[in-house]
Amino acid sequence: MILILLGAPGAGKGTQAEMVIKEFDLRHLSTGDLLRTAVSNGTNLGKLAKGFMDSGKLVPDDVIIGIISDYMKEHPGEGVLFDGFPRTVAQAVGLEELLQGDELKVVSLVVEDEQVIKRLSARRSCRKCGKIYNPALGINPAEDGKCFCGGEIYQRDDDKAKTIANRLNVYHSQTEPVIEFYRGKKLLVEVNGTGSPNEVFDRVKNALS
Ligand code: AMP
Repeated sequence: MILILLGAPGAGKGTQAEMVIKEFDLRHLSTGDLLRTAVSNGTNLGKLAKGFMDSGKLVPDDVIIGIISDYMKEHPGEGVLFDGFPRTVAQAVGLEELLQGDELKVVSLVVEDEQVIKRLSARRSCRKCGKIYNPALGINPAEDGKCFCGGEIYQRDDDKAKTIANRLNVYHSQTEPVIEFYRGKKLLVEVNGTGSPNEVFDRVKNALS
């Protein structure tokens, strides 16, 4: 199965992805995590992506489709959860061309903008493993303030107020059409993304069964 988790930044994709991959035995591919690793390793991809990411813009489609194409060639026939991809209709069309009869499911987490802004402002991430913490949702780090993997907890630059607004605009203008694209193909299931991670996970499981 190929599962696409859609939703605004801060809708809970990363948190749900961690739970869903265990339940359904999928690999987790977050294009955002992959790009952040590239940036911190200073690779060519990272150098290219950094400016777009820092300003809350999308990295160009051909770069992203290239990453996904390489991934699919390296992991043929394996179940995967895409988190943060596709972000544009061009990426969704690019993915269709890469699918080889794989079963595709699309879940969209629906959360109001106001809630998204609150969540993103409170969100912290682990610099080492990427795990997300959010006191606003009751997801807290270890008592010493570090991640359970020992990594440092930090606030992503793009989770700061001025970039959040840009990311939401980009979401509404470029990613919402992807929701309509999959609705038109009758592949879309919308799930209410408000509530605790466990409450949302129960809804996601129901949507997938
Ligand atoms: P995320 O962690 O999914 O919120 O992604 C962080 C940033 O990485 C985004 O604001 C974009 O700049 C970039 N990014 C991640 N995934 C994609 C994608 N599928 N297409 C274009 N840019 C992306």
